[in-house]
Amino acid sequence: MIRAMSIYGGVDLGGTKIQAAVLDAEHEVLGSARRPTPTAGGPADVAREIETAVREAAQAAGVEPGALAGIGVGSPGTIEDGSVTSARNLPGWEGSFPLAAKLSDALGPPVRVGNDVQVATDAEFKLGAGRPYGSLLGVFWGTGVGGGLVLGCAPWTGRGAAGEIGHIVIEIDGARCTCGRRGCMEAYAGRAAMEVHASTLVQKGRKTDLFKLMAEHERTRLTSGIWARALERGDKLAVQTLERAVRALGAGIASVVNVLDVEGVIIGGGLGIRLGHPYAKLITEAMQPHLFADSRPPHVHVAALGDLGGAIGVSLLVRGEA
Ligand SMILES: [Zn+2]
Repeated sequence: MIRAMSIYGGVDLGGTKIQAAVLDAEHEVLGSARRPTPTAGGPADVAREIETAVREAAQAAGVEPGALAGIGVGSPGTIEDGSVTSARNLPGWEGSFPLAAKLSDALGPPVRVGNDVQVATDAEFKLGAGRPYGSLLGVFWGTGVGGGLVLGCAPWTGRGAAGEIGHIVIEIDGARCTCGRRGCMEAYAGRAAMEVHASTLVQKGRKTDLFKLMAEHERTRLTSGIWARALERGDKLAVQTLERAVRALGAGIASVVNVLDVEGVIIGGGLGIRLGHPYAKLITEAMQPHLFADSRPPHVHVAALGDLGGAIGVSLLVRGEA
């Protein structure tokens, strides 16, 4: 039991996928599992998929889920006492759902829930690409665009809703955002918004392989992998939609840098990690014209912990290191 007491579970609950990992005391990943996030149903269905993902990760690590010292879950939305509210990009998540209590009942160990992007930012700060810096902006480019902050070597969450970089306005009266407002960066750069944009152009008669690739790979949405494949083929509509997203990211990130003057910017999230260094470079270039202190831009990196950053970060939370 002594060995098991130092083993933790971490789960990153995203709009597209649920990534679970089992980690030892040195943050080494002993086993991991990934499942698609349900596209229908509600919080109880999402909780069941999380439970299955944890069981699979534990099996891969050769431990019983009940032997874990604790399980951390990184979730979108507002987190209070293990309950999750306003988790946009998750199916049917109206009102508040006691995610920690439900998972703890199902799996056994204590469960703590943290904000997905903040725990991933903390993980990059402590163990990943953000280690050299005392101030950091994490940009998680996926279904939406989330942001996490470290200022003066400590996480900054404001009154609980800081870091919502996706909802920085980059165009007054611009494109409609999933938050109900207009002109948000996410309405141009989020994977969900890019999919809407691409299908609108197709309805107007534009050609693209995006939806053909989606069908070929038996996906129900344009995942990061589908966008990457379309780019490899030089699909013009995909290239242009990504260029539009990069322009939006450049303006949004540069605006945050102008206010906070952080040392480092970490690009993570499904799209950020999938598209990697070439796109981090394009985003850096797109930031440049908007930077006030343009002679010394911040260092821009791709998230070093990759897809597992969220799961690793939230395991820090449950072991009391975040
Ligand atoms: Zn918005």
